[in-house]
Amino acid sequence: MYAPPGVKTNHNEVPVPDKQRAWVLGDPGQLSMTEKQVPVPKKAEVLVRIDAVAICATDLEIIYHGPPASIQGGLPFNKNFTPGHEYMGTVAALGPGVDEYKIGQRVAVEIHAGCGQCKRCREGMYTSCHNYGLNYGDVDKGHRANGFTTDGGFCEYQVNSVNTLVALQDEMSDEEGTLVVTAGTAMYALTELGGLVAGESVCVTGPGPIGLMTVAVAKALGAQPVILTGTRDNRLEIGKQLGADAVINIRKTPDVVAEVKKLNGGKGVDYVVECSAASSAVNDAVRMVNRGGRVCLAAFAHEEVSVDVAHIVRNNIYLYGIRGEGKSATHRAEAYMRQKRFDATKIHTHTFPLDDLPTAIRYAKDRVDDAIKVVVKAKMDAASKVAAE
Ligand SMILES: [Zn+2]
Ligand SMILES: [Zn+2]
Repeated sequence: MYAPPGVKTNHNEVPVPDKQRAWVLGDPGQLSMTEKQVPVPKKAEVLVRIDAVAICATDLEIIYHGPPASIQGGLPFNKNFTPGHEYMGTVAALGPGVDEYKIGQRVAVEIHAGCGQCKRCREGMYTSCHNYGLNYGDVDKGHRANGFTTDGGFCEYQVNSVNTLVALQDEMSDEEGTLVVTAGTAMYALTELGGLVAGESVCVTGPGPIGLMTVAVAKALGAQPVILTGTRDNRLEIGKQLGADAVINIRKTPDVVAEVKKLNGGKGVDYVVECSAASSAVNDAVRMVNRGGRVCLAAFAHEEVSVDVAHIVRNNIYLYGIRGEGKSATHRAEAYMRQKRFDATKIHTHTFPLDDLPTAIRYAKDRVDDAIKVVVKAKMDAASKVAAE
């Protein structure tokens, strides 16, 4: 029976075993199911029973290529590392001194728990922690980014700092709960980093999960118009359902910059959030914004791209990258979702049991059956498995 000293449990409410099933990363692309000890929460930490975990494009990057994961200062392969970061669950045990959450409470988790002592953490920008990945041996600064620098969510139980928890209402499904952080990232891009206020115009390039959530959050924040560009009509259609005022299929539109301007009364938009990672996207984005406009880069490009710097300088354009979901933006995203200001479940397409993680990854990677957000669940009843397939 799991009963570490100083840790509060309530086995009647949420039983906790000593061992758990956990996927670990071997060579690139190789995942195998093993057994791990259930981890023990320290001060200001809780143990979360993982009820659902979504697969993110960044998980695929990590599993097949390594970065941005960094385990013990290097690539994540063959280090008994468990990836997965977009999870939600139930508080299963409380570390010493924790009274902010109760055993049995449902929570979503932010990914990043910064060191708490560097300049950026002190500013609330813990996703840009200067001690990123320094969490081992005698360089342990306390930084945690589960699924990136420490064990993540493709397992049954994980430890999280109380700073990373977002309480969920019972009305929100597990699947929707996994999307709170995705929406929080969109919120951080638009408001905390971008400074968006109601009535400004936004174009989102690339209808992946972050792009679609950015459309939803921008519209909920009162942006007008919100324009979405992409190559797949089915995803653009979901963008419309999430609040896009106009969508542009760039395969059918030779001059996407001109089209964006036309849709905004002949002027560039105030913000572009680039979520496509296409090599032409940055130059398109800096031409889609009006003078003094802002471009947020939210996609990992695979190669270096050349950028028209003179255009950016002449037009006073702000260009900024975003990492994750800092300044507790996730809490505000959850509040919007609780008020049903947008329906994040529109981007959830498939659910598989935890044991079928490789299948789930194949659906996400190859977009089988038009998959967008694919979720895996450790405890999944037979009926919902059939429905998902
Ligand atoms: Zn992610
Ligand atoms: Zn820090």
